[in-house]
Amino acid sequence: MKRVLVIEDEMPIARLVQVYLERAGYEVHWNAGDANAIHTFVTWKPELVLLDLMLPDQDGLDILERIRQYGSCPVIILTAKGSVPDKLQGLSLGADDYIAKPFDPEEVVARVQTVLRRSTYIAEADMIRLGSLTIDFSAQLASLGKEPVSLMPRDWQLLAFLARHPNQCFSRDQLLDQVWGMDFEGGDRSVDTAIKRVRKALRLWSETEGEISTIRGMGYSLRVY
Ligand code: CA
Repeated sequence: MKRVLVIEDEMPIARLVQVYLERAGYEVHWNAGDANAIHTFVTWKPELVLLDLMLPDQDGLDILERIRQYGSCPVIILTAKGSVPDKLQGLSLGADDYIAKPFDPEEVVARVQTVLRRSTYIAEADMIRLGSLTIDFSAQLASLGKEPVSLMPRDWQLLAFLARHPNQCFSRDQLLDQVWGMDFEGGDRSVDTAIKRVRKALRLWSETEGEISTIRGMGYSLRVY
């Protein structure tokens, strides 16, 4: 069951959306746009967020920015602000869609379905399968079919991070921050050599199912064929 987090201060609207989404088979959690919004996002790990922009305590766009620091979870903005500049600002900050209030709840359900259908985002699942490649986060193991893939811990973390965000490109700096941590002193070379080792370990998988591709001038992306 896919999880949808609704961040909306107006309870009647949130409840209406919740009822329709639950009827359509989604698991829904409501947050009133308070200080817990990001905490709920990080711990509950939704597959999609419906985000109101006009919140009493904070700007919804700030929440969107925070969500983006955690990756590419799809976000649909819900708001009474229907003007074009707001819409452009939301989309430029990485919202996936935009619905102006008042809305038809059926339309919200349809948009959620569409955005989820085209999304490659995988929430923090315990296990990801990309064809024959399985990444088991609780055991911290990768395997190809039944064969374990032998990786050093950091290389495993690199693969795990890329696998959570398939088809998305990350710069070497982003990978250093995400995988090695802010205070790591080594440079881009560490990323390149780790990528080389992971590629070697995934040789069989790369023949037919996917690869870690180099995006020139940008960085790396785990592509699924
Ligand atoms: Ca509001």
